[in-house]
Amino acid sequence: MKAFVFTQHHHIEPIVHDVPALPEEHALIKLSHCGISQMDVDTYLGREQKVAPPKVLGSEICGTVIKINSPGTPSELEGVRVAVDPIISCGQCDECRKGKSNHCENIDILGCTYDGGFADYVIVPVKNVYPLPVTGDIECFTLASPLASALHLDSIVHTEKEGRCVILGSRPVDILYGLVLRRRSGIDVIIIDDNPFRLNIAQSLGLSCIDLSSAGNNTIMDELFFENDTSIDIVVIGSSKIKNSLTLGINLVAPRGQIYVTRNLHNNEQIEPGDIIEKELIFRGVNLYDKENFTKSVDDIASYSENFSSLITHRLPFAGIENGLQIVETVPECMKVILIK
Ligand SMILES: [Zn+2]
Repeated sequence: MKAFVFTQHHHIEPIVHDVPALPEEHALIKLSHCGISQMDVDTYLGREQKVAPPKVLGSEICGTVIKINSPGTPSELEGVRVAVDPIISCGQCDECRKGKSNHCENIDILGCTYDGGFADYVIVPVKNVYPLPVTGDIECFTLASPLASALHLDSIVHTEKEGRCVILGSRPVDILYGLVLRRRSGIDVIIIDDNPFRLNIAQSLGLSCIDLSSAGNNTIMDELFFENDTSIDIVVIGSSKIKNSLTLGINLVAPRGQIYVTRNLHNNEQIEPGDIIEKELIFRGVNLYDKENFTKSVDDIASYSENFSSLITHRLPFAGIENGLQIVETVPECMKVILIK
């Protein structure tokens, strides 16, 4: 088999080796599709240090089960198209027993601490394999993991119906936050970023957008509040690289509002605690998702696949991984890049 191995920053090396032996309770998956995540890009560029090379990156995995080694699992699973949940939790620790597998004390993540999907084959625990419908576009299921993150955010947001939410960012996961919050919690969502290409896609999916590349901060305030005195109850700090996004979020949100932080802040952003105190704001971090969210995510994509395919803008062969990583980083007209066999 061939694996594309991250060996050092800015370097992915194709390496050919035998398919490893299959441990108990594991499945061998032949890759058909793998999405390129922001984590893959940040690791490749050296911004994210969690992954120790050599490692096969790639966490957004779809393929076919070739073999399983699990006496308790029906062999009919062999030959079935599946999506793979990249989060491997132990199921035994206190957090897992509470149903909070995203806080598992022994967590592993495919493409991070475990070899992932930039390869011909990947070995994964049988419990992380989710059979897909026979029909329908399999490529959309590469979005199952970011959609599960959006479902997790929705499950922890405290919202009143008819509230308003601003999301700072327009990458696929941000759009998915917006679509899920609007559909499941019924709130009005506004996406703010400085990338007209991605904002157009968000708009085509029915989300309201404000383009910072053509509007200054005062204009944002006007656009958000002019002819509409409804306040912003929730701000999600998403993937946007706009400067001082947390300060912008604090300015936008109403007194007693909530701010959800989904990523590390850029540029050593400093914030004034005084504003947080005066407004009595609530801050919450958002980390991964639990197993239930992944199950729900696969069901959602099966029912709404037309919404999701418009998020995929680039389809490349697996050998084009490094090109794909560069496209995510440098090409403004890019939403989601996936690799296809
Ligand atoms: Zn655990």
